[in-house]
Amino acid sequence: MFAFTSIKEYHSFLASNPAGCTVAVKHYLGKIEENKHLNAYLEVFEADALQQAAQLDADRQAGKPLGKLHGVVIALKDVICYKGHKVGASSKILDGFTSIYNATATEKLLAEGAIIIGRNNCDEFAMGSSNENSAFGAVKNAIDNTLVPGGSSGGSAVAVQADLCMVSLGSDTGGSVRQPADFCGVIGLKPSYGRISRYGLIAYASSFDQIGIFSKTIDDTALVLEVIAGADNFDSTVSVKPVPEYSKELTTNKKYRFAYFKEALEHEGLDKEIAAQTKAYIETLKAEGHTVEAVDFNLLPYVVPTYYILTTAEASSNLSRFDGVKFGYRAELNKEDDLTALYKKSRSEGFGKEVQRRILLGTFVLSSGYFDAYFTKAQQVRRLLCDTTSEIFKGYDAIISPTVPTTAFKIGEKSDDPIAMYLADIFTVFPNLVGIPAISIPLFTHSNGLPFGLQLMSSHFEETTLLQISSMMMNKG
Ligand code: GLN
Repeated sequence: MFAFTSIKEYHSFLASNPAGCTVAVKHYLGKIEENKHLNAYLEVFEADALQQAAQLDADRQAGKPLGKLHGVVIALKDVICYKGHKVGASSKILDGFTSIYNATATEKLLAEGAIIIGRNNCDEFAMGSSNENSAFGAVKNAIDNTLVPGGSSGGSAVAVQADLCMVSLGSDTGGSVRQPADFCGVIGLKPSYGRISRYGLIAYASSFDQIGIFSKTIDDTALVLEVIAGADNFDSTVSVKPVPEYSKELTTNKKYRFAYFKEALEHEGLDKEIAAQTKAYIETLKAEGHTVEAVDFNLLPYVVPTYYILTTAEASSNLSRFDGVKFGYRAELNKEDDLTALYKKSRSEGFGKEVQRRILLGTFVLSSGYFDAYFTKAQQVRRLLCDTTSEIFKGYDAIISPTVPTTAFKIGEKSDDPIAMYLADIFTVFPNLVGIPAISIPLFTHSNGLPFGLQLMSSHFEETTLLQISSMMMNKG
């Protein structure tokens, strides 16, 4: 029977198995079918994946040079374009829409021999923390099907958690990779803003959005990152900084300087046991010779409001293109309906409640009477956060915090209370506000039996440090 542990081991399996890629794809197709109830996939690209696998097996037999991700079976969140395949941001408004080009990340995966097995369910337009906002139903956490997997990239997290692919790509605007990774007990990386091209990623809030990676090992995260990161002529916000070979730079025996936010560990909304286990872990790090110090972060109460003002403003602008004319869904019209009615009906029927709420909120904070009070003020806070962050990284290699204040909650538990849902993002939105890389690694188990993670954040484009620390922490056993 096929079993996946890491890309490296899979590649040694392929060396002695002429039809190995096909074996792997068939394994995942079987697992996906068996676990349909989790609702992690919106669509499985069965025929294409089998065909890619057969081609890769043939290439290997013919002695052709093999890509870094040769035969690696990858799933994409339903916001990442794959040419000739449907993509819909889990929304009715993109009903029937087919990508006409590849996202740069997809292009790079394919160029290194990856196999794209399907597209994952998510919160509509990546707005949510529980995956209950999908137009195609909630995703279930594989550990306990009454629990949410987190969101918005819940399907991609569950796909890795439940062995429905080897690695998956999500997107992270305010925690959508790290938070579901935390709830599902897998690794979730959000790189620096500008590390991976956003070309072909359906936009939610363009100055925050970043493609992220779910996997079970840091080696795999590092390898996928080095493949998909880097300059791109199609995205002027992506950095031209050279991409290190992250996967070859993972081992160190350095002693690190960590900071943590006192306000975060003492936060009233933080589950007592998550706080206690995180504090105990800090003591372990100190005992191992690392420096761990508390730093003041009195801006913590402002991060969630700032995030929700700025992202909804950007979303209201980004989502204006979905008007019933250019893409996907168009409402049925009556004879007397004019163009405005076409827009109104298509958008009211095509967008779900949460997306509508955010478009309204974003339009409000950008409206002339309120622009200065909300949008400008939030931009000022963002600047303060950036300045504070630069100061902190003058003295520390990384900041540590819990990823989420609680473990996975019940499906339905918070769906009627958007404010409670937004507050759960308190620890994850900060790195997106300031553009730094952050990762959630599954280090802990709660007494309720559920996994939870530690969030690590490093300075801009210091993914190497982040991955080295993660590797050290995960391999301690
Ligand atoms: N939960 C956050 C939100 O709903 C984060 C979403 C994301 O990162 N895409 O906005």
